Amino acid sequence: MQNARDLKEYKGELSGALGNEFLRTAMDNFAMAYRVSRAKAFAGMDVDGLVRDIAQAKDQAMARMDELFEEFKTQAERQGVTVHLAKTGQEANEIIGRIAEKAGVKRIVKSKSMTAEETLLNHHLEDLGLEVTETDLGEWIIQLRHEGPTHMVMPAIHLSRYQVAELFSEVTGARQEGDIQKLVKVARRELRAKYAQAEMGISGGNFAIAETGTIALCTNEGNARLVTTLPRVHVALVGLDKLTPTLTDALRVIKALPRNATGQAITSYVTWITGPGECQSSPDGKKEMHVVFLDNGRRKLAKDPVFSQVLRCVRCGACANVCPVYRLVGGHQYGHIYIGAIGLILTYFYHGREKAKNLVQNCINCGACKAVCVGGIDLPRLIKEVHARIQDEEGHPLQSQLLGMVLKSRKMFHALLRSAKAVQKPVTGGTPYLRHLPMIFARGQGFRALPAIAETPFRDRFESIKPKVKGPKLRVALFSGCVQDFVYPEQAEAAVKILAKHNVSVDFPLDQSCCGLPVQMMGEREASRSVAAQNVRAFDLDSCDYILTLCASCASHLKHGYPEILGPDCEGDPGLAATVRQFADRVIDFSSFVHDVLQVEPAEFRADGRKAAYHAPCHLCRGLGVTKAPRELMATGGLEYLPAEEEDVCCGFGGTYSMKFPELSAELLKKKLANIEKTGAELLLTDCPGCIMQLRGGLATKGSPIKVQHVAEALAERLR
Ligand code: SF4
Ligand code: SF4
Repeated sequence: MQNARDLKEYKGELSGALGNEFLRTAMDNFAMAYRVSRAKAFAGMDVDGLVRDIAQAKDQAMARMDELFEEFKTQAERQGVTVHLAKTGQEANEIIGRIAEKAGVKRIVKSKSMTAEETLLNHHLEDLGLEVTETDLGEWIIQLRHEGPTHMVMPAIHLSRYQVAELFSEVTGARQEGDIQKLVKVARRELRAKYAQAEMGISGGNFAIAETGTIALCTNEGNARLVTTLPRVHVALVGLDKLTPTLTDALRVIKALPRNATGQAITSYVTWITGPGECQSSPDGKKEMHVVFLDNGRRKLAKDPVFSQVLRCVRCGACANVCPVYRLVGGHQYGHIYIGAIGLILTYFYHGREKAKNLVQNCINCGACKAVCVGGIDLPRLIKEVHARIQDEEGHPLQSQLLGMVLKSRKMFHALLRSAKAVQKPVTGGTPYLRHLPMIFARGQGFRALPAIAETPFRDRFESIKPKVKGPKLRVALFSGCVQDFVYPEQAEAAVKILAKHNVSVDFPLDQSCCGLPVQMMGEREASRSVAAQNVRAFDLDSCDYILTLCASCASHLKHGYPEILGPDCEGDPGLAATVRQFADRVIDFSSFVHDVLQVEPAEFRADGRKAAYHAPCHLCRGLGVTKAPRELMATGGLEYLPAEEEDVCCGFGGTYSMKFPELSAELLKKKLANIEKTGAELLLTDCPGCIMQLRGGLATKGSPIKVQHVAEALAERLR
């Protein structure tokens, strides 16, 4: 599979994918149906507990990878299996080629195996003159089309039944109808003959159980049973990450794997193979069985303190199912061989930097993948980490270097914002938006109006609005983030008004700056650390009970990102290391503070019953796990809350993402606004100034009357 050479070429491919109406509709339908079936499948279960157990067990197993391999080998060889270990994909292919040659194999049937996709096994075997037939329906279809999978579980999800009918017509030489049942029958008929003729069957393996030397396969089509039983030779190609100490460990994962993959409680078939069985087609009545383990970087990964967690992946594909970007562009543009969030990371480790470098930039950091990963892998963080590593290896683009340089100096950054305000008049046309930006700044940005810089930043207004509170019940230090400070200061002012009513003292440390998330998203690790350290130092923890922020992205970054990026020793600054954890613990978002801490009451507000929809910012609902507070506040504040479809799906902002991938950002926004408009709401509330910028800009461009506000503004407006 080819990957785009550079970002420009990659963007061209993305545009092509966006133009594929069928793909978009198929992915949308699938994403909506998956959401419902997954929720049903996990209903009543302690999913978080299960994820924790799986993660812990996988981590322990991966730390014992070599030991488990030896145990598996001993047990499997006792049963008559030959066990091989391949360092690279090429070596695995060569081992399998030699097994085929030695056994006089000419025809091979294969069941679905991502590991075989990883090693490009089919190409190797075909180059040796062997006939290889994929027997999983989706895999067979893509094999006939000479393309790679677009999903790890459903490899041909991007194709319509009519495309498949056309393909099958070519293969069978007879016209086939676009009727799914009939097409399945055609495939079954064509493939049956292949099973009967094949001398070798190749499978993957969901588990390689060390205590018994067993290979386990979870499938839905039954083809894997035919592949592993009918031919006289069976080869299972499995990654070392599939080593599982015991059957109990495997059963724990099986509780989650089909539920997370397809919303099924269990797959149609779970096959356990312990040693070679009897085989009628073999001259001595006994099957020849081999297990080829693939390393290809897995042993090194197991020792990597940051990335070892990727080996917890059970290949359920859920991280693609929920990814809003994957949903727009499909797997050929959102992975190399492995697809979705995990694919962006594994591509770097298994297929190299060149193949990964464009892909990792296309993550909007919405956290949807992390929220559903049954391995509990922090996928967004690792994607950012891969991006940063690639930039360290290849050199940093000028743009991100400059942004890093500017953000590292708060004074320079703020001076630039102030000068932008001074010169923006000709482009605002007297509106709160930048209407006539030069093309260099506005390329691709026509889908939303961009806001103007505020007349007076919040930091300059603060002294005049600072509440005079005597004997405060709580002390809050406000972290505004750069958007509220310089673009929407009225949002922070609204919050101050509510806090003052509750006898809360408010401080605004002037040395605070941007939270640093934009530079982290751009792979500027050093700059993001430096900004984080400056912000932590800007706050006097002795004089505040809470660090309150009205920006969901800032809140999540300050709370969870800072301790991670600054590291346990804060690069040798013991003073800061002691502070960063306390700093993070004190961070709270506006809705949680007002709802849970201040416990505001309906009597404090003038109810007007206006209809309001809500957009759940990614970093609030998933980053901080806050879902109830803002919705309940809407009712407390006297509004009628109208739920919208997919409230928690990203609005397409993603900070610098919307500048880098405006076409994708525009599509995400379009969907979001359509869902909001369907509610009939006159107000749209949310908890993040970045989302407000995106939503307000999109609605303004459409000429919509829907008013977008921060929850704080809506509450402050109705304060009695
Ligand atoms: S990373 Fe997590 S969600 Fe994605 S395929 Fe692996 S286990 Fe499933
Ligand atoms: S963080 Fe969001 S955009 Fe990025 S890979 Fe995960 S789901 Fe996709």
